[in-house]
Amino acid sequence: MSNEFLALTEQIYAYMLNNSLREPDVLRRLREETEATNPHAIMAISPVQGQFMMLLLKLISAKKTLEIGVFTGYSSLCTALTIPADGHIYACDVSEEWTSVARRYWAEAGVADKITLKLAPANETLDALLADGHAGTFDFAFIDADKSNYDGYYERALKLVRKGGLLVFDNMLWYGKVADETVVDADTVALRALNAKLHQDDRVFTSLIGVGDGMHLAIKQ
Ligand code: CA
Repeated sequence: MSNEFLALTEQIYAYMLNNSLREPDVLRRLREETEATNPHAIMAISPVQGQFMMLLLKLISAKKTLEIGVFTGYSSLCTALTIPADGHIYACDVSEEWTSVARRYWAEAGVADKITLKLAPANETLDALLADGHAGTFDFAFIDADKSNYDGYYERALKLVRKGGLLVFDNMLWYGKVADETVVDADTVALRALNAKLHQDDRVFTSLIGVGDGMHLAIKQ
């Protein structure tokens, strides 16, 4: 066995869940409803990723956060349950249908007043936040939306977070496709280019980790 990485098996993943997962009931019900009713359920982050994100939010004492790509709301609910009562999430998505599930669970969990949902192309929302004086005021940004726009989201989110703020990009190993140079579809090419850019970008300090489908973490220097 390599000492550099551990390839997860179903058995090891089940062990992880059984020995580390603390998933509140409302999150479990949201996850199970999404898995049972939404054919795109794979777009939701895993419970292990959600808990890891909650730990990151606690580490940096995040209060004001940005979420690009809400889907049915698992990651935003993780965030809302973790940030303090006076914290706030600006959440971007384009789907009324999917975010209606998110809004239902935000209300049920009593955190709806912590979340501003913007239904519009995220770059428009981010440009509006920049124009309204929010630059350098966010503690955290989670980016998990259309892959070909990730670089645009990166540049805008980097302006919006404070020094020491954390950006988290999901799906950065993209089922392994980024590592296979023969795969040249637009999404894969965009993610491969962003990983390479983050690796060399002195504006951030980064770590690309193999949680879920790969998360690239970047702290603004
Ligand atoms: Ca994702």
